[in-house]
Amino acid sequence: MARIVKKFGGTSVGDIDRIRNVATRVKKAVEEGHEIVVVVSAMAGVTNQLVDYCRKAAPLHDAREYDTVVASGEQITAGLLAICLQEMGVQARSFLGWQFGMKTNNVHGAARIEDIDTAALEACLKGGRVAVCAGFQGIADDNRITTLGRGGSDTSAVALAAALKAERCDIYTDVDGVYTTDPRIVPKARKLDKITYEEMLEMASLGAKVLQTRSVALAMKHGVRTQVLSSFEDKPGTLVVGEDEIVEQEVVSGIAYSRGEAKITVVGLEDRPGQVSHVFGPLADENINVDMIVQSASEDGRSTDVTFTVPEDDLRRAVKILEGNKKDLRFRDLVYTGDVVKVSVVGVGMRSHAGVARTMFDTLADKGINIQVISTSEIKVSVIIDAEYTELAVRALHTAYGLDAPARA
Ligand code: ADP
Ligand code: ASP
Ligand code: MG
Repeated sequence: MARIVKKFGGTSVGDIDRIRNVATRVKKAVEEGHEIVVVVSAMAGVTNQLVDYCRKAAPLHDAREYDTVVASGEQITAGLLAICLQEMGVQARSFLGWQFGMKTNNVHGAARIEDIDTAALEACLKGGRVAVCAGFQGIADDNRITTLGRGGSDTSAVALAAALKAERCDIYTDVDGVYTTDPRIVPKARKLDKITYEEMLEMASLGAKVLQTRSVALAMKHGVRTQVLSSFEDKPGTLVVGEDEIVEQEVVSGIAYSRGEAKITVVGLEDRPGQVSHVFGPLADENINVDMIVQSASEDGRSTDVTFTVPEDDLRRAVKILEGNKKDLRFRDLVYTGDVVKVSVVGVGMRSHAGVARTMFDTLADKGINIQVISTSEIKVSVIIDAEYTELAVRALHTAYGLDAPARA
């Protein structure tokens, strides 16, 4: 008998038939003798709709009330799944964040888990019942409802698996595992049997939204065996594991892309000590996350250009802050665009193999794609390119690194 946390994403609980399909799977696991804690997302499209309601009600709404609204999607699915399970003769009880002790900080809209008091869930499992938990939500110490950021049910599930010392955390979704790149844009993408925590962490943070980045960080920290698999098919998915469990490591294991980026260039910035800190300090004060940065060499010794990226959602705010400081910073112009994409190649094998970046640059050059910004770390190379070339770039790189699935006979 094992204790397993099973998380079902939006598409998997998209309507009542699908919720019944989930209930059937859970019932099977219970009949096999396992202790099951289920974590559910809102039905597909519901959270987007709720976010939209908040925006329409007031573009600059109170973040606490945003959380009150957007957390409601998971309440519906938790209750419905418990009803479907009961209907099938499985004892089940739903739990909202505050009922299963999901304590978070008070950063509304992107709260971090501080502690999970598992007493209620332990009692539920001890009583032989399935616990159905609403993902994505928690409670701050002032008793207000919080949410964990978009895609946060993955994090709820992994955190619960760690707190309950579960044997495994199964993340059921609409694809049958983690692929070498998003299978929706590259039909030749290959399913991976295993991927390391580190690579999955990079892939997720660079745009592969199959798992929320923080869920992978938590799984890595607590060594939670996490499996990504399909809720529509009965076959093994992809295991996210430690590096020691991977026998033969590819140099590059995946390609990720992120469309939610924007690029800003501060043109003709006076070239003297402290300027860069004056550009980025005020952005940091406003919690704007600057990602890639390049500063061009100063041609005349007097002025330089600084180009950097920020999340597209923060572009307007960033521009406003910089323009507000124009007098102090003394730059000539600000040039910015949201029509860019970040494409990254990821692989722990890069640590011991040279030439990965070169293959990337050669491949993009062959396709006539201009690289605007570059950044590297030990296990990834990222570039910013024109958004128009996203699919072309991802497909060409996928082929160049030998990742394409073999053609079917
Ligand atoms: P859920 O609602 O179940 O949480 P998501 O939409 O958040 O599902 O995540 C699943 C989606 O992630 C897939 O439909 C797929 O398009 C996308 N995806 C992006 N990159 C990858 C990848 N490398 N492997 C698998 N899926 C990926
Ligand atoms: N329902 C939330 C979202 O759409 C959380 C999740 O699905 O993981 O972001
Ligand atoms: Mg998701």
